[in-house]
Amino acid sequence: MTTALAPALTPTHLRFLEQLFPGEGLVTKPEEMAVFGADSSRRSALPWAVVRPRTEDQIVELLKWAEAERMPLVPRLRGTGMSGGAVPAFGGVVVSTLWLNRVLDINAGDFCAEVEPGVVTAEFQALTQKQKLFYPPDPASLKISTLGGNVSTCAGGMRAVKYGVTRDYVLGVRAVLPGGKICDAGGRTHKNVVGLDLTRLFVGSCGTLGIFTKLTLKLLPLPESSATVLAAFPSLVAALEGAKGVFRAGILPTAMEFMDATACRGIAQIKDVPWPDNTQAVLLLKVDGSASALAEDIIRLEQALSRANPSCLLKGLGPKEEEPLWEIRRLVSPAAFQLGPDKLGEDVAVPRGKTVEAVEGFQAIGAENNTHVACYGHLGDGNIHVNIIYDAADEGQRTRAKACKEAVFRLTLSLGGTISGEHGTGITKAPYVSWQLSETERELMAGIKQVFDPSGILNPGKGWV
Ligand SMILES: Cc1cc2nc3c(=O)[nH]c(=O)nc-3n(C[C@H](O)[C@H](O)[C@H](O)COP(=O)(O)OP(=O)(O)OC[C@H]3O[C@@H](n4cnc5c(N)ncnc54)[C@H](O)[C@@H]3O)c2cc1C
Repeated sequence: MTTALAPALTPTHLRFLEQLFPGEGLVTKPEEMAVFGADSSRRSALPWAVVRPRTEDQIVELLKWAEAERMPLVPRLRGTGMSGGAVPAFGGVVVSTLWLNRVLDINAGDFCAEVEPGVVTAEFQALTQKQKLFYPPDPASLKISTLGGNVSTCAGGMRAVKYGVTRDYVLGVRAVLPGGKICDAGGRTHKNVVGLDLTRLFVGSCGTLGIFTKLTLKLLPLPESSATVLAAFPSLVAALEGAKGVFRAGILPTAMEFMDATACRGIAQIKDVPWPDNTQAVLLLKVDGSASALAEDIIRLEQALSRANPSCLLKGLGPKEEEPLWEIRRLVSPAAFQLGPDKLGEDVAVPRGKTVEAVEGFQAIGAENNTHVACYGHLGDGNIHVNIIYDAADEGQRTRAKACKEAVFRLTLSLGGTISGEHGTGITKAPYVSWQLSETERELMAGIKQVFDPSGILNPGKGWV
């Protein structure tokens, strides 16, 4: 039976932490801890203390102690999560594993790498490329988030259409469990069917099952070349038809992103844009592969898009020409603030055949509630970012924004979709998990949580837990 968690940190607890984490390894001043209590969800809470382990041994000792004391622990890396997963909203000690940041091995023979959780994703990718190897997962936050955070949230990215998400590149996870036991799930082989797939269970578990200390990641050969095409359309339907045409032509793009009229309007307020004023949607597609295959793919891609009558079609060959086109895409999220000071950033996903219905429905929800709703994102995966833009200081706008969010979730679920395609449930979507998961599914998940963390000390109150 679960016993109540410790309600606060006592002087005895503090003495233990001071011994285990000497010097800068322990942070207790509120003004220094504040930054460890927030993430990109714009939620925050003050931790009871922050510990910064340098070794796995320290984490083992911490988890033995925490289990005995029923001390809540909230694992944390760069705090770029969008759902409050690293926010100690229900109290506890924040465990920052950012100092575990070594790349232990990049092996071209095994096509795998071993890393500690605190390695920044883009820095790791740059290292793999030096050996002509490729780690595809590319969340838009790749320059500021870590591999540990990406694995813990199962981060997606733009290249998911062709290459899949973080889950598809995790071969093994080493994690310390409550009580201090180490679980070394998976390993360096690209196939492994002995027993249940504990590795996959850790991926996307948002710090609720164990604290990662090492990850084994799968690598691919680095594609020789790449190209990007931007196409603007005078109607949403034409853009979405253009996207369908690409798949119909037998092309599997590396990335297929889209931005609706509201998103395009936001960007146009902060940057000179290449599309005409009457643009209702923009598609951005990337292809990669050998130089010879790519030349042919580009021609077929342009032909497929042209059939949907774009008002503008631009092409970038190779990273230098492609970069300005992708820079436009990266501006969408910040540009949303041109339309209002606050936003609810949802990341629903629908079956790929339902994207037109979904986007039209989300836009209608915005119009019905007199609220800006900008849709953009990973069209190729059916993963639509729905930004509901409002002013939180205005009660009417706040109420309408919440109504929009709930209507967006309802429509998504009615189309057979999910309320989160990549950001996870954390605290922001926790109240809606039961809208999607049945009682049976939630009971199974609670049972799994109980096996890993019988006292419920790891990241309490997050998502399905
Ligand atoms: C501008 C921007 C763009 C983004 N774009 C994308 C995108 O394209 N795709 C996408 O999926 N996400 C995106 N995100 C969300 C975010 O970057 C990802 O969720 C990322 O994986 C979080 O990594 P982090 O290092 O910041 O982890 P944190 O936010 O610190 O933590 C994330 C989760 O991991 C847990 N955790 C931390 N350390 C450990 C550990 N050692 N062991 C076990 N669990 C641990 C935490 O408790 C938390 O639940 C974006 C965020 C921003 C700000």
